[in-house]
This record gives sequence, structure tokens and C-alpha cells, in this order.
Amino acid sequence: MSVAFAALDADYQGKKERIDAAVARVLARGWFILGEEVAAFEAAFAGFLGVAHVVACANGTEAIALALLAAGAEPGDEVLLPANACVPVIAAVRLAGAQPRLCDVDPGTLTLDPASAARERTAATRFVLAVHLYGGVADVETLDGLTLIEDCAQSHGATFRGRSTGGFGRAAAFSFYPTKNLGAYGDGGAVATDDARVAERLRQLRQYGWSRRDHAEREGWNSRLDELQAAILSAKLPFLAAENERRRELAARYDAAFADLPLRLLATREGAVPVRHLYPVRTEQRDALRAHLAACGVETAVHYPTPLHLQPAYAFLGRVRGDFPVSEAACDTVLSLPLHPALSGDQAEAVIAAVRGFFGEQP
Ligand SMILES: *Cc1c(COP(=O)(O)O)cnc(C)c1O
Repeated sequence: MSVAFAALDADYQGKKERIDAAVARVLARGWFILGEEVAAFEAAFAGFLGVAHVVACANGTEAIALALLAAGAEPGDEVLLPANACVPVIAAVRLAGAQPRLCDVDPGTLTLDPASAARERTAATRFVLAVHLYGGVADVETLDGLTLIEDCAQSHGATFRGRSTGGFGRAAAFSFYPTKNLGAYGDGGAVATDDARVAERLRQLRQYGWSRRDHAEREGWNSRLDELQAAILSAKLPFLAAENERRRELAARYDAAFADLPLRLLATREGAVPVRHLYPVRTEQRDALRAHLAACGVETAVHYPTPLHLQPAYAFLGRVRGDFPVSEAACDTVLSLPLHPALSGDQAEAVIAAVRGFFGEQP
């Protein structure tokens, strides 16, 4: 049996009627930019998260940059972020004109380590960008005196002590890239905030800095979500809670099946309910395991192969191998197994059998 890493075609087939109706509605109306679909999705997603405001935008990278700018980031302000995140996170900090300040991550959850953050922090550090990686929940409590911005691109619906991620920071960025837990059929993003002034700035920043037509109140650019994507997202949002639950069921099945293997599984922070955007395991034999799984027809991925301080584009930060050892080790050993809501029980069993087979164990 072959097991694909994602199944966006199955996702569409399961929601076809609602999505086709949403697309037809937008085409028939003939209004494509910042209309009632965007407004309706913003209201629905704010309700889902339990936040006061959601401002949709073009993608998750710009959502992070917009969140930082709307929260008051000035040129030269430092933003703490974890070294094991994906490139768009650091790209967004630079897009906002801010200065990235990397720190290491907790070896259990692979999210920002407050002790490392405290060591890296300088007098210029004003923001901490907590990345809720893999659908888990990063520490949102222990960094005093800094403005918290959340990166929720992998954590739509994950909660900490009953509250959704996206409700903890001054502002929180979401991506609706097609493979995210809530995905558009193209690019999309949003920023959530409880602060009405931040929301107002976001609405200006995402459209040329306009406070009204042709009047630039501040410097902005074009980062709009279009009506088609908003209508598709509204059609898909009602399925998100059940899909997150299905992801948790599959992850629990993997957790149980791999408990006795020499694999390091992801830890969950106390009080957190994750949404299992990805299912990473860690092993020194990552590349051999990956090749074995490919030979068994199981598609895998690496999130992420290179820590941010070792990316050529960010050599100017002056950080070297050895500076963030937990992030470096994670990048060298991590492998994501297939996990998505359309994955069948039989497919999950095939993944389990293939992984156990690699270690010479019966399924
Ligand atoms: C996907 C992702 C982003 C970037 O989102 P885009 O919509 O692709 O720009 C940022 N941060 C994290 C953690 C992501 O997973």
C-alpha cells in the first residue's frame, strides 16, 4: 500500500458541494477583493479562535510581518525566534524591518526554550515570536517584558488551558497555505488580535497603508486575501475541529505503536491540546529510515533540514554551528511521517508496519 504525505484531492472530494457552491457564489457576484466573503471569514475565524479581531491577508509570511508592524515594531528592534523554525519565519522578521535574534528550543516540544531566549536577549530585544511548531503549543508565559507575537501557521485550533493559540500574543499570525490544518486553495493568511488599535493598523497596512481610499496614513503594501479564497476558507472552517480531532487520534495511534522503538517522539506541554499539524519523529538513522519507508511506499518529509543560523541568506547574523545545539540536532534527526485527516486506518497501519519493520520489529 502506498501512503502519500498529503491528500488535498481527498480533502476537496469530501467537501465538494460546499466548496463548489462557495466558488460559484463569488464568481456570480463579480466582487473579488475585500468584500463580504473576507469580512464573513474574518468574523467566523475570530469566533472560532475566541479573539476580538481577525484581519485576513495574503499569506502567513506577511501575516507575521504585519503582526510585528501593527504591534509597533520599529527598524532595529530585535525579535527573538527559534532557530529550528522554517525560513518564512525569519524572512518575515526582516520584511518587517526588524532584526532577528535566534534562540534554541526545548528538546521535548521543539518550541522556544525560555532559558535560551533569556540568554540571547539584549537591550534592543522588544518582541518574542513564539512559533507553535508541528501543531503544538510554545511557551507563551515566561518571557516578561517582551511583546509576544504568535506564529500559529501550524496550530489552528490548538489550545493551552482551554484558550486557542492566537489568543495569547499582542497579535498572532496564521497561514492558510493549502497543506496547513486550515488551508485555502491558493495562498492566504490572517492576523488575530484582541487589540482594536492593532486591528485598525492591520487593516491599513494590508492595503497600501490607506486609512481611506487613496489616503496613506502609514507605509503599507498590498497583502490582501481575495474573495474566492475567503469563501473557500469559510466553507472549510466548520470541518476544522473534527479534522484536528482525527489528527490527534492518528497521532495517539502512532505514539502507542512507536513507544518501544528507539525513536524520539514529540512531547506535549502540560495544559496544551495540540493539533498535530505534523508528526515528527527523531532518530540518528533518519536518512536510512526515510529510504526504507520510501521503499515501502510511505512518503515522508523533513521539517526542517537546516536551522536558520546555517542558512546562507542569514550568515550575516554571525552565528555558527554549535550555537543552537538542540535545533541543530533536531534538524539532523527529524522525519515527518504521513498524518492528515484523510489518512485511513489501514494507511496508518501500513506506516506503523513499515517503521517497525525498519527496526526489525513486528507491527
Ligand atoms: C507555513 C508557515 C509559514 C509561512 O506561511 P506562508 O503562508 O507559506 O507564507 C510561517 N511559519 C510557519 C511556522 C509555517 O508553517
